[in-house]
Amino acid sequence: IITAFSCNSNAKKNQQKQSEISPYDTKVDSVMSLMTLQEKIGQTVMYSGGWSVTGPTVSSNNKKYIKEGNVGAMLNVYSVKGTRDLQKMAVEETRLGIPLLFGYDVIHGFKTIFPINLGLAASWDLQDIEKGSRIAAEEASAEGIHWTFAPMVDIGRDPRWGRISEGAGEDVFLGSEIAKAYVKGFQGDDLSKHNTILACAKHFVGYGAAQAGRDYHTVNMGEDELRNVYLPPFEATIEAGVETFMTAFNELNGVPATGNKFIFRDILRGEWGFNGFVVTDYTAINELVPHGFAKNEKHATKLSIDAGIDMDMMSSANRKYLEELVNEKKVNMALIDDACRRILLTKFKLGLFDDPYRYCDEQREKEVIYKPEFLEAARQSAAMSSVLLKNEVKSLPLNEKQTIALIGPLVKDKENIIGNWAAAGDRKGKAISVYQGFQEFLEASKIMYTKGCEIEGDDESGFQKAINLAKKADKIVMVMGEDYDMSGEAASRTNIKLPGRQTDLIKAIRKAVPTKQIVLVLMNGRPLDLSEEHILVDAILETWFPGTMGGNGIADVLFGKYNPSGKLPVTFPRNLGQVPIYYNMKNTGRPIPLDNPKEDYKSNYIDVPNTPLFPFGHGLSYTKFEYSNFELSNNKIGFSDTLTASVTIKNSGDYDGHEIVQLYVHDKVGSITRPVKELKGFEKIFLKQGESKTVSFSITAKDLKFYNNKVFTVEPGAFDIAIKGTSDFDFEHSFILE
Ligand code: BGC
Repeated sequence: IITAFSCNSNAKKNQQKQSEISPYDTKVDSVMSLMTLQEKIGQTVMYSGGWSVTGPTVSSNNKKYIKEGNVGAMLNVYSVKGTRDLQKMAVEETRLGIPLLFGYDVIHGFKTIFPINLGLAASWDLQDIEKGSRIAAEEASAEGIHWTFAPMVDIGRDPRWGRISEGAGEDVFLGSEIAKAYVKGFQGDDLSKHNTILACAKHFVGYGAAQAGRDYHTVNMGEDELRNVYLPPFEATIEAGVETFMTAFNELNGVPATGNKFIFRDILRGEWGFNGFVVTDYTAINELVPHGFAKNEKHATKLSIDAGIDMDMMSSANRKYLEELVNEKKVNMALIDDACRRILLTKFKLGLFDDPYRYCDEQREKEVIYKPEFLEAARQSAAMSSVLLKNEVKSLPLNEKQTIALIGPLVKDKENIIGNWAAAGDRKGKAISVYQGFQEFLEASKIMYTKGCEIEGDDESGFQKAINLAKKADKIVMVMGEDYDMSGEAASRTNIKLPGRQTDLIKAIRKAVPTKQIVLVLMNGRPLDLSEEHILVDAILETWFPGTMGGNGIADVLFGKYNPSGKLPVTFPRNLGQVPIYYNMKNTGRPIPLDNPKEDYKSNYIDVPNTPLFPFGHGLSYTKFEYSNFELSNNKIGFSDTLTASVTIKNSGDYDGHEIVQLYVHDKVGSITRPVKELKGFEKIFLKQGESKTVSFSITAKDLKFYNNKVFTVEPGAFDIAIKGTSDFDFEHSFILE
């Protein structure tokens, strides 16, 4: 018999936290008592300022709406002047003078751009991620921004999906921890400070599970998968105090998110007690019509507010139809009061009613944008995010005496290196290229450079020069990858190989210099199929799109100033045919026997192994870490006990370095089948050469819960457990929960 117990304690805690009466409630009431229905609706409307940097390019219509009190928030307006001018309009020219809220996609940095989010996730460094988002908030808030549309906490398991670059990868536990770190960084410990901004957990929910990685597409999944995989990172943001949520573009089991009562009213508000406000994604109310869920935009407006959505981003739907819907008694006035109240409350929390201009501060803008310590932090993040996928015959680190041929379309690049969603960043001048990074370590006579080929296209005319340089050099470093806009929104690919002729160039060079070491440095926004490159080159460093200081961060790693410590937050398949492939899949009734992978009627492909090329959690170091003395405090635990698992790690190699120590469990038998492995803890440690450390993790029954049949349960039985430096291992130890 399975004895299951419900553990919704987190939800209860959140509910309590969220339902505490805020000191601003009476102030909100008094503002609302002065407002007309139209003004209340106005608070739920957001328009775009058209990406203006130097001043608003806001349309005359939108200005008119602002002056009439029909707009509560603006997006894509930044710079002190841009935000101040519009704020002045709202404060001085509307009847009630309610300040505007300025939102912007501060995704992986504002001006000082950090690695793309998938890269930041590869650092597994929560402190660094929190620090990076703190810096982003410092810079953005100085330009008048109050609110970022981040973090994106969608689990991503399909490398075709372009937006996998914006998330923290495939894992629930890692994704949830990272989600909290972002929220804490953006929002700080006190929202009323002028350097903190609202965070927004997006996109609720299931967006990463779109069929075949097609952006915006259909999602169908059972409630167990929704609850066990896709929802937890969102719940984690609530635990961290996130103030806003954004709807997803996709439908979930037939109901588009923006009209989905089940996820917003039942789960987000009902179960989790969230009382911040929910914004739609861009024009998502109108999109209920082409989805085939609403008859027309007016109907869509009703469906959205009924579902619990507070703010309309760019649909103009609330502005056009809500008043009419209330007058026709098709929408309950109380829903509009609720939405308006939540939005006003946020404005009070930010201190905008005390001083609407406190966020636009020329002096602070001058002081904080590209502050040297911010650039230094970005350099460190770039180094920490790099993952050493392969390093044969110790091809890396490079040494300063060798002559290096730097070849590839991304060697001198300053445009792609900062990645997507970095519009406020400087895509041309400010970023440090890999070439510049090398100049810090090598004298000019030791660097030879040629582009060799473009990222895309068929041109081979640069190959010969590249071959000639390769012949002259001691070592070859090739910097290749994707264009920045080959990932991100509406940038899905059905081919995840290096684009253009890049692989052919590697082949040509390998043929010309069969015994020279070739190091491949990659910049890309998704897991790539590296099955060919992996055989051709001696070392591979995955650097994602590493940001403004990317060239420095990469050179720090390549020359050994920073010993690489990144680990993959997402699986790299052998080819696209393996997708979906992730480390915590389920078993089958016919698992592959290790001693005979070719045996018939097993769950294997006949043309490639079932294993990925590089698994989740994988990442090499220049030094060697040895794991020994695995110990459990007990072989049996009860439901209220704590189990301690520990292991000793020794740095037995030649360099000091960081290791990311990972705790995995496997619930061997469940009332629904459980994944073959689940990450349940990790710790980043630093060990000097020769040094050892014991790392311990505590596990309680609550850590073993999963959702099945309408409740979270923990079931007694046997669990495998291990502490390793990768997800690629076989369990050797287990314990019993009874
Ligand atoms: C994206 C969101 C983003 C919003 C505002 C949408 O197209 O899906 O992630 O925050 O635009 O720019």
